[in-house]
Amino acid sequence: MTQQATPGSVGFIGIGTMGREMALNLAKAGHRVTAYDVRREAADALAGAGIRAAATIAEAAAGADVVITMLPDTPDVEAVVYGDGGLLAHPPAGRLVVDMSTIAPDAVRRMHADLARVGVAFVDAPVSGGPLGAKNATLSIMAGGDAPAFAKARSFFAGMGTTITHVGDSGAGQTVKLCNQLICGINIQAICEALALGRAAGVDLQQLRTVLLGGSAASWMLDKLGSAMIEGDASAGFRIDLMLKDLRLVQQQAQAQNVPLPATALVTTQYLDARAHGEGSNGNQALFRVYDRMAGQVRPSKTGAP
Ligand code: NAD
Repeated sequence: MTQQATPGSVGFIGIGTMGREMALNLAKAGHRVTAYDVRREAADALAGAGIRAAATIAEAAAGADVVITMLPDTPDVEAVVYGDGGLLAHPPAGRLVVDMSTIAPDAVRRMHADLARVGVAFVDAPVSGGPLGAKNATLSIMAGGDAPAFAKARSFFAGMGTTITHVGDSGAGQTVKLCNQLICGINIQAICEALALGRAAGVDLQQLRTVLLGGSAASWMLDKLGSAMIEGDASAGFRIDLMLKDLRLVQQQAQAQNVPLPATALVTTQYLDARAHGEGSNGNQALFRVYDRMAGQVRPSKTGAP
């Protein structure tokens, strides 16, 4: 449910595919946003929307009620927290840090404990919904951490998402997100197999997609990415490299807890095949190109790698 945000001050770190849209929506919701990215031009580009660019992490955090991070991987978030001039030494005035990236749950618990020692709350709040969900402020946000910190973070989440859920203690948000990611990966693989079979039989693939969307095989992936797969549009939304990072995190957690995930293991090898063919920065719908190759049906990529 959309909620009215209480205006506050946000330091937003990581102005990439997702962070850019999320920062813009926070500004639209009435928050004062200061943006920081290692690529200074990414933060500068938001000036027209009333978002101030910071030259350092400390500058983004100064006077902020909350600092939100949206970064590629665990070492990036750790660098922003522990690194020289990072948040451990320069926490926001509101003493709340929210990481919305997808990273390792054990790293989240470590940062939660280290920041707690200096009186700063840390919430893990990864998201699902892709760049379109980020743009439309309809993300699903799954948060882990202490209840008072979640309550404080919630009014900021309301500017970025519509399904906002406190799923448990520190790290629980990431665990739920990893469950989300293994379903996404395996679901894309299932769509690839259906499209490969349909294509070989001469079926109209757009019609196949429309029919499937009306029945029990419907899914977000088929809806949002099916056409791009059929058209051979590999332009990134969620990069294959990021999906491989998520599948690695899934498998690390599964091994630590002795949970066999055979379907995840199989689809991971196919994403690795895609990366080995230079497609790491393509969108993850380009997994279909692995099936193109296996079926001897290689098509020119409309965008991205060869
Ligand atoms: P991205 O690579 O487009 O953006 C990351 C941004 O962080 C870049 O602008 C980069 O310059 C910046 N950055 C990297 N290291 C930094 C540092 N140390 N300090 C400051 N800035 C730094 O990635 P994205 O697609 O926006 O994804 C961000 C996170 O969200 C990832 O963890 C990803 O798995 C997750 N996610 C992505 C999607 C998606 O569809 N793209 C969907 C859900 C979740």
